[in-house]
Amino acid sequence: MTLRIAIVGAGPSGLYATDALNSAGHHVDVIERLPVPFGLVRYGVAPDHYSIRSVRGTLEKVLLEPNVRLLAGVEVGRDVSVDELLAAYDGVVLTYGASRDRLLQIPGEDLPGSLAATDLVAWYCGHPDADRAAVESALSAATSVVVVGVGNVSVDVTRVLTAPADRLERTDMPQHVLDILESSGIRDVHVLGRRSPAQATWTTKELRELGEIDGIDVVVEPADFELEPVVVGLMESDRVVARNVEVMRGWIDNEPAEGNRHIHLHFHSRPAEITGTDRVSGVVVERTALDESGAARGTGETYEIEAQLIVRSVGYRGMPLAGVPFDASRHVVPNADGRVLGEDGVPIPGLYVAGWIKRGPTGIIGTNKKDAGATVASLLADRVDIAPRGGDGVFALLLERGITPIHIDGWQAVDAAERALGQAQGRDRTTIHEHDSLRAAASGVE
Ligand code: NAP
Repeated sequence: MTLRIAIVGAGPSGLYATDALNSAGHHVDVIERLPVPFGLVRYGVAPDHYSIRSVRGTLEKVLLEPNVRLLAGVEVGRDVSVDELLAAYDGVVLTYGASRDRLLQIPGEDLPGSLAATDLVAWYCGHPDADRAAVESALSAATSVVVVGVGNVSVDVTRVLTAPADRLERTDMPQHVLDILESSGIRDVHVLGRRSPAQATWTTKELRELGEIDGIDVVVEPADFELEPVVVGLMESDRVVARNVEVMRGWIDNEPAEGNRHIHLHFHSRPAEITGTDRVSGVVVERTALDESGAARGTGETYEIEAQLIVRSVGYRGMPLAGVPFDASRHVVPNADGRVLGEDGVPIPGLYVAGWIKRGPTGIIGTNKKDAGATVASLLADRVDIAPRGGDGVFALLLERGITPIHIDGWQAVDAAERALGQAQGRDRTTIHEHDSLRAAASGVE
C-alpha cells in the first residue's frame, strides 16, 4: 500500500521525515513557504560553518527521489489550509520549526539598535524576509555590542560580528552583508550569561573556535570561575560542561592586544534594562547569584555596559498555524509521539508534527533525524490499514488558485545562479537574497 503524505516545511526535520517515508515506499509532497528548501541549514547555520552546512547535499538527495515532489513558494495557512491538506493526503506532517525570537521582557527591548539574534542571523544568511533596514542601521552605529545569552546561536553571532574579513569572504554571504561587516566599527562584544559559566549551553567546539580566530581576543573575569557548590556537581557529571569551563579558564590570562577585536564573557549577569532615548546607548546589567536549584536570582547590584547594538540571543519560539492546536506556554504543537492532540487530548486523525515545532528549539541538526523518524513511525503505525486516497494532493488546487509551486529543478536553477554569481565575484557561491530574484532564478529568468 502506497500512501501520499504532505510534509509542511523543507528544513532538516521535514526532509528527514520525507526520507523515512520515501524509504518505506510512500509518496511525499514537501510544501515550503520560501522559494527555496533547506530551512535552517540555509538560513540558520552560520555561513562560515562549512561542514555543518554541507548536510544540504544529503538533504538535496532526498528531494531528488522520484516519489518526492518539492512544492516551494507555497504558504500553508494562506495558499492552502491544513484542512485542505488533510482532505487531499493520507497524512500531514507539520515541520515548520520555530521562527520567532523569545523576548527578554525588559524596558528598552524595542529601541532601535536592539535586535533579535533571529533577525541578525536571517540578515547575514541572506534570508529574503530579513529586515535589512533595521539590521544595517543598528550595525552602522555600533562600536560596542552586547549579546545576551550563552548558547550556540550567541557564539555564532559573536563570531560573525568579530571575524576578520578574510574569514567571511570565503563564505556565501550576500555581497552587501560582507561589505557592511567588513567596514563595521565594532571593537568590543560583551556576551552576558545570567548564570554561571558551567551552565552555558554552547558546545565546546564552537566555544573553543572563538579563541582560535586571528584578530580576536577573548577576555574573561577570574571571579566568574569561583564555581558555587550547586554547579560543581554539574562539572563532575557532564564532560561537555567540564570542557567548556576548562576552555574558558584558559582565557583568564589573556592579554587583549590593541588593534584586535575583544570578546568579553560575563557571567552571573542579566540585563535589567536597555537604555537610550531614540536608540540603544547601553545596558544596565544586574549581578545574579544562584539559588539552591541552580536558577539565577537578582542581587540588586548593577553595572552598566555602553553599547549601540544589543543582540538578544535567548532562544527561538514556535508560532501557531491556523487550524492547528497550539500550546502557547511552550510554543509547540501539543502532541504525543508526534501525533497532534486536539483540545480534548485525543489525536487528530492524519495530523503529525516533527522537529522544533514538536519538541521546542533544542538539539543539533542530527537530533531531528531521530525525532522525525519517531513521528514517521507513529504515522505508519496509525495509517497502515487506511484506504489510500489516491489523487495528486493539492497540486491542481494550487494551480487553480494561480499559485505555481517551485519544484526541485527550480532549486537547481537557483543553485546554478548562486554559483555563477559567486564565481563572478571570485567566490564559490553567493546567496541570492531577494524573493523576486530567487523566483526569477528558479524559473530560469535572470
Ligand atoms: P539555547 O542553547 O537555549 O541558549 C539560550 C540562552 O539564552 C541560554 O544561555 C539561556 O540561559 C539564555 N536565556 C534565556 N532566557 C534568558 C533571559 N530572559 N535573560 C538572559 N538570558 C536568557 O538556544 P540557542 O543558542 O538559541 O540555540 C538553539 C538550538 O540550536 C540549541 O539546541 C543549539 O545548540 C542549536 N544550535 C547549534 C549550533 C551548532 O551546532 N553549531 C549552532 C546554532 C544553534 P539559561 O540557560 O539561564 O536559560
